[in-house]
Amino acid sequence: MSEPTPLPLVFDAPKGRAKPPRHLADLTMPERLELANEAGLPAFRARQLSAHYFQRLVDDPEQMTDLPAGQRDELVSTFLPQLMTPLRTLEADRGTTRKTLWKLFDGALVESVLMRYPGRVTMCVSSQAGCGMACPFCATGQGGLQRNMSTAEIVEQVLAGARALDRGEVPGGPGRVSNVVFMGMGEPLANYKAVIGAVRRLTDPAPDGLGMSARGVTVSTVGLVPRMRQLVDEGVPVTLALSLHAPDDELRNELVPINTRFSVAETVAAAREYADATRRRVSIEYAMMRGINDQAWRADLLADVLHEHGTWGWVHVNLIPLNPTPGSKWTASDPADEREFVRRLEARGIPTTVRDTRGREIDGACGQLAATEG
Ligand code: SAH
Repeated sequence: MSEPTPLPLVFDAPKGRAKPPRHLADLTMPERLELANEAGLPAFRARQLSAHYFQRLVDDPEQMTDLPAGQRDELVSTFLPQLMTPLRTLEADRGTTRKTLWKLFDGALVESVLMRYPGRVTMCVSSQAGCGMACPFCATGQGGLQRNMSTAEIVEQVLAGARALDRGEVPGGPGRVSNVVFMGMGEPLANYKAVIGAVRRLTDPAPDGLGMSARGVTVSTVGLVPRMRQLVDEGVPVTLALSLHAPDDELRNELVPINTRFSVAETVAAAREYADATRRRVSIEYAMMRGINDQAWRADLLADVLHEHGTWGWVHVNLIPLNPTPGSKWTASDPADEREFVRRLEARGIPTTVRDTRGREIDGACGQLAATEG
């Protein structure tokens, strides 16, 4: 009997837990050159492999004809190990919305969604397997946190979409990913280091990274205030989305339990600081729940809370029609209540949009496919 091929695993000593395979997308270019050096490979191979991955969007070693045939497998297993396998892809909107359920090396399940619109393609990615934030209306929040994802696992979700678009597999002809939103499973700022690494890989110019504009990347958070402040200092002006869902502490403590640590006032102040520092408008996410947070008086209170932090147009509100999770007591708002909510915010000069419900029939919103498989 032959020995099973060992997976390129690195062990996390303190917890004794296996880590995801190391991949070039985990590393900066200088770190890739160093890895090549350590492996006794010429440094320029790291650049060639980076160009295959980020620029040519090639993942098949057969197509890497500038690498010596005899070394290709070694190079690919050192720099581009397989990180995840697609378990299932669901399509909606005639194939322009595609949700993929991924199985990671340790069996953890995550999902990503590609949404093609006229003139842009948005990829919604996961940053953790599960989530520890326990928001009661969110399917992912019900299952708890399994583990953080690695930088490369986050990046690879985007690259899988980029390859499918490049190969013309998405209706509408060959295309590129223009936007990435961290609105899949997980709380991105609770996996801060890996998420920042992923943002850098996505925005670094090719071949070091994918060369996207930071403006096209949105990080959505429950409001981990110290991490929001830290994000200002990173110097990557991503768009920040704050999942507020209620303008008052009493209700927000229930809907977004981390609010008991960081109050509405503190959280909104940190969002305003982010907007001031980056001159990027912050998006306030507000999932509309019938009879819970959608009253006209709460729209007025939300406007008050936002205005308390300044009126230079630092903020806009994005209402999300609730996607009810199985067995939950919450349902979506009455359309008339939703319209009144929008009207009141706009009357107070707050730009307000209602998120489209793309992919609803394939459970495009938040963790539901992985939840049913898990
Ligand atoms: N942890 C991050 C990203 C989570 S998902 C955050 O909380 O911002 C992105 C958005 O979807 C969040 O605003 C989240 O509150 C919202 N969301 C979660 N479950 C939902 C549901 N069932 N219906 C509508 N929006 C939901």
